[in-house]
Amino acid sequence: MVNYKELGLVNTKEMFAKAIKGGYAIPAFNFNNMEQLQAIVKAAVETKSPVILQVSKGARNYANQTLLRYMAEGAVEYAKELGCNHPEIVLHLDHGDSFELCKSCVDMGFSSVMIDGSHLPYEENVALTKKVVDYAHQYGVTVEGELGVLAGVEDEVCADHHTYTNPEEVIDFATRTGCDSLAISIGTSHGAYKFKPEQCHVDPATGRLVPPPLAFEVLDGVMEKLPGFPIVLHGSSSVPQEEVETINKYGGKLEAAIGIPEEELRKAAKSAVCKINIDSDSRLAMTAAIREVFATKPAEFDPRKYLGPARDNMEKLYKHKIINVLGSDNKLAQLD
Ligand SMILES: [Zn+2]
Repeated sequence: MVNYKELGLVNTKEMFAKAIKGGYAIPAFNFNNMEQLQAIVKAAVETKSPVILQVSKGARNYANQTLLRYMAEGAVEYAKELGCNHPEIVLHLDHGDSFELCKSCVDMGFSSVMIDGSHLPYEENVALTKKVVDYAHQYGVTVEGELGVLAGVEDEVCADHHTYTNPEEVIDFATRTGCDSLAISIGTSHGAYKFKPEQCHVDPATGRLVPPPLAFEVLDGVMEKLPGFPIVLHGSSSVPQEEVETINKYGGKLEAAIGIPEEELRKAAKSAVCKINIDSDSRLAMTAAIREVFATKPAEFDPRKYLGPARDNMEKLYKHKIINVLGSDNKLAQLD
């Protein structure tokens, strides 16, 4: 058993309290490999932002949980080497689906876990979340629960359509489970195909599709019931159209990939939403850069020559999110 504190990681408690007070949100970026992790850490250090490194069940299966744990430990040291003396890095399990998985992460040094019982009947979600909270809190590990179902596909998490969170249930859920934060459903969804074109309208200025607005009334309802309680938004990639266009220009085939407009996320970040999950956007940034190298330099076969540009493109994207969307830059408790 290793505690996250030994690894130099932090949990989400103070980070979220500060973010709510300060009207910004902490970026939660998923990672599966070294280049992604380097890009995330570099972006966080250079913008002086706290950051949440997220590992999904799929990532654990892909990269191996032991290796990911040591990579996160390495991330703290890497941040220090880059000149950040007091990094605030959380290692978080994204969409834990069982008590055993969450327990295994707590025991391996994760500082935060999500238990996603949102697909279960309400009482079962409460019971499962409480069981995880009771275990995790013994070790200071923070727990994210989920109420309401998000549409879309993310690794092994999949639902046909979303069910908005019922604000009436949130007090009961938060009180009975003791969870530290709550993922809610207000119309964001997983993946790069968040909306069907027929749900959108065309922006006359850009010719691009604009999706229906998020259900801010549901968020307002939740904040009214639980003032100051940390809220999490999943499925919050914006699907940058320039990345989609680059991918398609160089032989890709992404049709009608549509995300959440950044203005909506900016608005959410100013509220009790204090963690915003972004995964698909970095996948797109990585793929666009790799496709461009493959298409323009077909003789290239040194992986560093295409993974390097992919890493640079992801770093640019992460910095943009931190500075222009979430507002978490210069928010480390100790900036020196
Ligand atoms: Zn999610």
